[in-house]
Amino acid sequence: MDTVRHAELTCSRCGTDTVHEVVYAGRLLVQVTCTTCGKTFGRDVRGEYLADLRQRLATKPKRMLRRLRKDPLRFAGSLPKTVSAKPLELLSEIRVVWHSGKNRQGRRRRS
Ligand SMILES: [Zn+2]
Repeated sequence: MDTVRHAELTCSRCGTDTVHEVVYAGRLLVQVTCTTCGKTFGRDVRGEYLADLRQRLATKPKRMLRRLRKDPLRFAGSLPKTVSAKPLELLSEIRVVWHSGKNRQGRRRRS
């Protein structure tokens, strides 16, 4: 599941320690936002996330991972309950991950 936590970190824009919103997808850190000025650091964690998910679904066939790459949202919705007891949490987790990746690609493709 995606998890939001709060931590006191040094913000480069504020130049001081401020409370930051830290977003995790599963065990991966996806995004950190300064709650004072709104400065955000995002990471493209899709590769890491797939590796992580592969471990969590270790007993499942590779076919499922290919479906996940093609259409992650539909994949999450179609998961049988035996795979994840909490399909909705997995879905929101995947959304966080894919959103982070899309943001970074958008910036990179400007050239
Ligand atoms: Zn700040």
